[in-house]
Amino acid sequence: MIVGILALQGAFIEHVNILKNLNINSILVKNKEDLENINALIIPGGESTSIGKLLDVFHMKSSLEKKISQGLPVWGTCAGMILLAKKISNDERIHMPLIDITVVRNGYGRQLGSFCIYEKIKGINKPFPMVFIRAPYIEQVGKNVEVLAIVNGKIVAAKQNNILVTSFHPELTDDLRMHQYFLTMIQ
Ligand code: GLN
Repeated sequence: MIVGILALQGAFIEHVNILKNLNINSILVKNKEDLENINALIIPGGESTSIGKLLDVFHMKSSLEKKISQGLPVWGTCAGMILLAKKISNDERIHMPLIDITVVRNGYGRQLGSFCIYEKIKGINKPFPMVFIRAPYIEQVGKNVEVLAIVNGKIVAAKQNNILVTSFHPELTDDLRMHQYFLTMIQ
């Protein structure tokens, strides 16, 4: 099994390191051809506007959208979640509207909105260290979306079929459980 990590901008190396610790092979996905060699994809945190533009510049967006709608397991962390959301309530841009959620970009404010908190995630026992960095949160979900975590009344993790999204950054901790959770979605 090979997990691709979209490596156009953002925190992709951290995901590679976690997967290495789990003995999972990964490749950095930098072009359309790389998409052919993967069984799942992680879209990392970073800057969603830049990653979205680069997906266009490298002509990857439509192939990627097609693969995900055909069932490729994908996990968007932070900016990755924004890139996969059907609606962004405070931005006109929509990137790949594949999961039926409405997100609020920079929902906790800008730099001062970065924090870490231990909270429960459905399907993972014992609280998980959630690192938020200028994070989005989910303000609305469609009926086919499963809510996995709520922090202070705001949805911060959700899943719809093959698509997983988290507002926070498990790759910046040494806790492997969220990656393990994603791996169970790959068959
Ligand atoms: N604020 C960023 C955005 O809107 C996301 C931040 C992150 O990925 N840590 O794209």
